[in-house]
Amino acid sequence: MSAQQKAIPWGSRSVDLFEKIEQIGEGTYGKVYLARNKETQEQVALKKIRMDNEKEGFPITAIREIKILKELRHENVVQLKEIVTSKATKENKGEASIYMVFEYMDHDLTGLMLNDGQWMPTAAHIKCYMKQLLQGLHYCHSNNVLHRDIKGSNLLISNRGQLKLADFGLARPFTEQLGHYTNRVITLWYRPPELLLGAVQYGPAIDMWSVGCILAELLTKRAIFPGKNEIDQLDLIFKLCGTPNEDVWPDVGKLPWWKTFKPSKVYKRCIRETFKHFSPDALDLIDKLLTLDPKKRITASEALDSEYFWTNPLPCDPADIPEFPTSHEFQAKKRKQQMHMTGDALKRQRGPGGAPMSVPNPPSQPKYPNQQNNYYNNNQPPYSGRNPPSSGPLKGPPSAPMSTGRMPAPPPSNYQGRSQPPPPSNSRPPLPRDYRSSAPNHQQK
Ligand code: ADP
Ligand code: MG
Repeated sequence: MSAQQKAIPWGSRSVDLFEKIEQIGEGTYGKVYLARNKETQEQVALKKIRMDNEKEGFPITAIREIKILKELRHENVVQLKEIVTSKATKENKGEASIYMVFEYMDHDLTGLMLNDGQWMPTAAHIKCYMKQLLQGLHYCHSNNVLHRDIKGSNLLISNRGQLKLADFGLARPFTEQLGHYTNRVITLWYRPPELLLGAVQYGPAIDMWSVGCILAELLTKRAIFPGKNEIDQLDLIFKLCGTPNEDVWPDVGKLPWWKTFKPSKVYKRCIRETFKHFSPDALDLIDKLLTLDPKKRITASEALDSEYFWTNPLPCDPADIPEFPTSHEFQAKKRKQQMHMTGDALKRQRGPGGAPMSVPNPPSQPKYPNQQNNYYNNNQPPYSGRNPPSSGPLKGPPSAPMSTGRMPAPPPSNYQGRSQPPPPSNSRPPLPRDYRSSAPNHQQK
């Protein structure tokens, strides 16, 4: 932290210090803008904290995010620089606001992936991103913080190839003695089977499942478990990872919703066949990340030690990754929507049977891998080893552990009434309606 930043008490400055340039994000809890510091010209991201949903003052998710991010300092965790405020005026209809000021990052991973094949990371690039993701998570887990919402739109990427974990709105501290936490966390497609089966005692392994989904998604360019609801999600997981039994997951029978959701059909694990075109080391790591039993799932530090990161092509240096036009999920989707609308308008002008459009289609709902065999066969990222390997050992555990006081629970009410199907996108995990009665979430954090 610079001397100047240290001297500024958080919340003491006005948002007027910044000039908003454009909106780059729209989440469940507020808008995010690219802005410029009028004094220093530095670009920042301003995350406006939404107050309009709140009956009870300042939103608990924002308190949690600020409290956790204030303590975390790592090159793979986004830096919260300051909090600024705006006073109630006529222009803002008497609404005072609070903003988090972050270092600005050019992309998020979902935004890049939505770029219709123009973004073509090599195997060395993917390893470089994965290494940074795991380093950031290793840091969080070593400091007793669970992220609880790892997915593409929460992984920010700079034009210098750096990847940083962002959106700590669902994060919470954990203790080694298992706690009693809510299972309504992690966006559905990235949610591990133990949470879908009602676990309320869990640890860092929940984030590692999401990492497995991300790695497979980077290699296939599709979400691998695009479930429509919780039951469908479990079904997709079991089809690929096998139906759990006491041998592979001894504690599965103790999970609250196992009896209810136990599939009638027994599936054999087929990760290796489905992803047989991945490199053996990538396949091995995905297999270990997508392990059903959270106790057997690989940890972030074990993953960083895996062969995948130590065999050719080695992860490249971040600086070797080429620049790409700015791409955030919000803008990428808006662009696609506009193109789609333009396409529709032109079609209407031309009438039925008009000339074919050159406008790309909106992203189609990804399909289950087994229905996409050709895709897996034909769209592997080039394992070319073209980039010079990055040198030097992996960074060790963080040197300055944070203090982790207990923080308030996420308010489950925030998830209520969110409509299905849940997002591939930025929105928060929806409340599993069917589960509401069986989960006394007000005691869970
Ligand atoms: P939410 O809780 O609403 O999902 P996020 O913190 O994930 O909020 O922000 C929403 C989006 O805004 C992100 O997916 C990303 O595209 C963009 N964004 C957030 N923080 C930054 C940042 N520091 N730099 C650039 N873009 C950001
Ligand atoms: Mg987000």
